[in-house]
Amino acid sequence: MENIESILNQALHEFSALEDPVELEQAKARYLGKSGSVTELLKGLGKLDPGDRREQGARINRVKEAIESALSARREAIQEAKLEKQLAMEALDVTLPGRGSGMGGLHPVTKTLERVQSIFHSIGFTSVSGPEIETDFYNFTALNIPEDHPARAMHDTFYVDADHLLRTHTSPIQIHYMMDHEPPVKIIAPGRVYRVDSDATHSPMFHQIEGLWVDEHVSFTHLKGVVSDFLQRFFEREKLKVRFRPSFFPFTEPSAEIDMGCVFCEGQGCRVCSHTGWLEVGGCGMVHPNVLKHVGFDTEKYLGFAFGMGLDRLAMLRYGVNDLRLFFTNDLRFLKQFE
Ligand SMILES: [Zn+2]
Repeated sequence: MENIESILNQALHEFSALEDPVELEQAKARYLGKSGSVTELLKGLGKLDPGDRREQGARINRVKEAIESALSARREAIQEAKLEKQLAMEALDVTLPGRGSGMGGLHPVTKTLERVQSIFHSIGFTSVSGPEIETDFYNFTALNIPEDHPARAMHDTFYVDADHLLRTHTSPIQIHYMMDHEPPVKIIAPGRVYRVDSDATHSPMFHQIEGLWVDEHVSFTHLKGVVSDFLQRFFEREKLKVRFRPSFFPFTEPSAEIDMGCVFCEGQGCRVCSHTGWLEVGGCGMVHPNVLKHVGFDTEKYLGFAFGMGLDRLAMLRYGVNDLRLFFTNDLRFLKQFE
């Protein structure tokens, strides 16, 4: 019984040194557990005289309570220390600037395409797309370019295998569409095209946009109106001059090159227009009857016109870019100017 106070001192000393909650509970068992030292003292009470028993019992119970309250204080302290540690570890400095993610921008060719589409959609044309790998039939034969035709040599074609090629123009889209639809047809067909060619104004991959209108009373006058109106709206110049120069394409008859007044010198002559005052922007013509026959249209009843322009060329002229390759090298210093 004499060591009861030393048991208490020992317990307090032991608890204060523990940092781990599991170790603390194990220490508790050594004092208050089934065979803990305090429990043993309580068991021993029965052997005492009734007079001593009361006094000693009260002493032991005070010690027991002191141990229990020390235990719960230590539990709380350990818990609090753990929380402090966690808070310190996960500390956030809310005043730090955010990492941020830069906003991207549309590619100038994409912006140009969207602009072209919105103009044609506003006058009733629908956008259509098609495969980039084509058969000889869709890319050439159906467009009135039979085998051994010299126009095939002009197209510098990438062949995938004996039967397939990368389309050299967007015209095969027109063939697919006309085979699947009855007239009237009023579509634009934008897309990537491929030719074996590479310099400041040519890229092995570039973009074209073609237009096709087939109906009963479509004439060359309509063609001139649609193309002129488009160019004037695209370049935001009401009085932009547009001229049609006789030319040859196998799939149109008659055919014409489309020129417009130079937007850089207003027709005065400059380096961009080779001092002619004119810029070549595309080709066009009345759809050749052989093309309409290939897709099963009645050539006695239907006429049509088609035109094609380089989308990249339109973007170059609109933004004043002098090297086509800049569009495809993904240099952010260049692309950021169009954000
Ligand atoms: Zn010029």
